[in-house]
Order: sequence, then structure tokens, then C-alpha cells
Amino acid sequence: MSTLEIIDLHVSIEDKQILKGVNLVMNTGEIHAIMGPNGTGKSTLSQAIMGHPSYTITQGQILLDGEDVTEMEVDERARAGLFLAMQYPSEIAGITNAEFMRAAINARRPEDDKISVMNFIKKLDEKMEILNMPEEMAERYLNEGFSGGEKKRNEILQLMMIEPKFAILDEIDSGLDIDALKVVSKGVNLMSGPDFGVLIITHYQRLLNYVHPTFVHVMMDGRIVKSGDASLAKRLEAEGYRGIRDELGLDI
Ligand code: ADP
Ligand code: MG
Ligand code: MG
Repeated sequence: MSTLEIIDLHVSIEDKQILKGVNLVMNTGEIHAIMGPNGTGKSTLSQAIMGHPSYTITQGQILLDGEDVTEMEVDERARAGLFLAMQYPSEIAGITNAEFMRAAINARRPEDDKISVMNFIKKLDEKMEILNMPEEMAERYLNEGFSGGEKKRNEILQLMMIEPKFAILDEIDSGLDIDALKVVSKGVNLMSGPDFGVLIITHYQRLLNYVHPTFVHVMMDGRIVKSGDASLAKRLEAEGYRGIRDELGLDI
């Protein structure tokens, strides 16, 4: 089992404090969901965990299996087993989707155990079929000209190919029609198991009808203000954030 610990995390962007002490412990085998109003720092949390250089950690720590990754670069964190599906995946010209994934898989493997081209293609075909993706998408430049839905589906393809220990999915469900949502959920559910933990950031209960969270956290004003089980997401759907604000006496 692996553990990802976020301890008292404070993060600033351009001297503006966004995260004000986030605490979260995740184990592999668990599905965590974070919900919260716009602008409360959910994407900031995901970028800070992954090590985006624009997000400055001013206090606190991120530990992966007890090892402090707070000072590591993005690629080191990826090699250590962290994966982020961004809210707005970027387009990379000049590298195909398949090349990107093979490089990412191999970066996590020792010199004498790189994936063979044949095994890579076999695995890629298998995962693309599960996600109902046309074969040609593997040979296209990464995210270039992909529709919003194709980008999200492609993030899940990368996830299934790279097989990280922990994945953060930032609004993977936004802009998806119901069929795409089901496909994305199927991918996450297939990944789920004792060697995989996931943090799902979402605005909607909708995705959580297909991917059942072990824990649900509510984030407001740069902090996790409440945690519970799946029923917390249902409550939010029914009451909005008002109910939680009132219950906790929060004026935000
Ligand atoms: P969420 O994902 O919960 O909607 P974000 O983490 O994207 O929230 O944003 C949190 C706060 O940080 C917002 O007030 C937002 O305007 C601000 N912010 C996010 N990114 C930047 C940036 N690159 N530069 C300045 N402010 C930013
Ligand atoms: Mg947002
Ligand atoms: Mg966001």
C-alpha cells in the first residue's frame, strides 16, 4: 500500500495566498473526491501536488510513502508515481500521443526493463478499445485539435497506460456528455484497486454516481472544511454549499 500525505499545505500564486492549510491523507485502494465552489483553490491544490512551478508552497509538506516530494520537479514526481489530469490539458505540437505515453511509461522503468514496442502497442490497443477511442488518435499530436471531450478521454488513456500510484483528476467530467462520462468512469473504475489511489475534483454529484468515492471532502476558501462519505456529495447536491456554510458558521 502507498500513502500520499498533504500536511498543512499553504500555497501562493504571485504572492496571493490561495491554500491556507490543507490536510489530506490518501491511501491506494481509496477514491477521494473534493468538491467546492469555483475559485476555492481546487486546481491550485492539484497543481501544487504535481509541482507546477508557478505555485509556491510557503508552508507544509507533501509526502509520498513518507518521502518528502515538496521540493521535487514535476518529472521527478511523475516518476515517483504521481499523475495529474489537468482541468485544461495543454496541446503539445511535435510529439504524438503514443510517443508521449511510451516516454512516460519508460521514464518510470529502470534501464533494463523498458517496454517493448510490441507490448506498448498491444497495451495501447487494449486501452483505446475500452475507451472507445479511434486508433488514429494515438498518432495525432498531443491534444492538438482534440475536442474538449477527446482531451478528457485522452487523459484517462494516459492514466491507464502510465499506471501511476496516485492520480488527481481535475474536473475530468466537465463538458462531457453522458456517454463520454460513462467511458471516463469505466476507465477510472478499471484502474481502481489496491495499487491505485485517486483524487477526483468535481463540481457535480453526476460523476460520483458512476465512480463511488470512499471519502468526500468539501473545500472552501483554501481549506478542506468538511470530510465525510459518499452521502456528503448527495447532501451538497441537494443543499448547495449554503448548508455546509451555515452548519460550520463560515462567512465565505
Ligand atoms: P478552483 O479550481 O477551486 O476553481 P483555482 O485553484 O483555479 O480554484 O483558483 C483559486 C484562486 O487562485 C482564484 O482566486 C484564482 O483567481 C486564483 N488563481 C488561480 N490561478 C491563478 C494564476 N495563474 N494567477 C493568479 N491567480 C490565480
Ligand atoms: Mg474552477
Ligand atoms: Mg479548478
